[in-house]
Amino acid sequence: MSPDVRSDLDAIPAYVPGASVPGAVKLASNETTAGPLPSVAAAIADAAAAANRYPDITSRALVERLADFLDVGAENVTAGCGSVALCQQLVQAVCAPGDEVIFGWRSFEAYPIISRIAHAVPVSIPNRADGSLDLDAIAGAVTDRTRLIFVCTPNNPTGPAVPRAELRAFLDRVPERVTVALDEAYVEYVRGDDDDKVDGVAEVMARRNVVSLRTFSKAYGLAGLRVGYLVGPVDLVVPVAKMVVPFSVSSLAQSAAIACLEAGDELRARTDAVVVERSRVRDALLDMGHAVPDTQANFVWLPLAEAASDFDAHCRDHRVVTRCFAGDGVRVTIGDRDENDRFLAAAREFVSRM
Ligand code: PMP
Repeated sequence: MSPDVRSDLDAIPAYVPGASVPGAVKLASNETTAGPLPSVAAAIADAAAAANRYPDITSRALVERLADFLDVGAENVTAGCGSVALCQQLVQAVCAPGDEVIFGWRSFEAYPIISRIAHAVPVSIPNRADGSLDLDAIAGAVTDRTRLIFVCTPNNPTGPAVPRAELRAFLDRVPERVTVALDEAYVEYVRGDDDDKVDGVAEVMARRNVVSLRTFSKAYGLAGLRVGYLVGPVDLVVPVAKMVVPFSVSSLAQSAAIACLEAGDELRARTDAVVVERSRVRDALLDMGHAVPDTQANFVWLPLAEAASDFDAHCRDHRVVTRCFAGDGVRVTIGDRDENDRFLAAAREFVSRM
């Protein structure tokens, strides 16, 4: 007889990561193409030399550096093993079994998984036709059992960011007992009118029920090291920090993240280059007839519906790995110019076949 395990395991979807194919260009996981900056690599090497010791359990130096950087109190920040771990800690901190977690769909794949793991009920609200979150419908779906709402801005995988006025009107509607998590994994890529842009940290400081989740995996290029952070009111930061698996932010990750914060200008140049390429790739895809939504992140979304799997397989035949959401669309990370050209050549050939 095998041991008893949870009876609801089949209801927990698997997280499907972007594939890596040797020799192919990987545009499947919204990573950066370039490796860590030399100063960051040096900090990682220094930390590796002391890897016989456990890391600082509270990531104190990193938290204090982040607090300075964001102009908030250190008590408003906690670090985690990637922002996905902080998403999970947040669900565990606010939800009892049967409580509801609302999010737009399609959005970050982990939301339904971590909700189910915590015995909470995921409630997904369809996005608008242009790939943006339907915040009206999300606010309208709040019930007595709702504990948490994830607002992913810019939204993975569709790309649009929520405009500031729209977010504020939404936050005004959501009862204060419900926590709103602004998942800002791609915030460093947002451009445009300052009055329109959401700064999650400013929203956090103006409210009692809002947190911002950010990561070093994307613009900072540390996906392999696993480090992210949450900014929020103390009444949420303390419960979230309590849910952490002890020592889950490695000493290498803590040191690398601090070094990244010291290298702001160099990293800004990298995100600027992605933004330029993002416009070029999106314009080329629009010319090919793809209805690519506006994107403020380091990826584009092709709403290919039933053709998504064929397109993804075609790109893979051309040694370009994209991320397929079968029956819905394909998400393609913005890489460097050569990588993007390889992808665009494959996309052009796909169109010419249709
Ligand atoms: N939020 C969003 C919207 C994401 O796309 C991702 C990564 N794909 C994460 C959070 C988690 O990132 P990480 O755990 O690497 O910090």
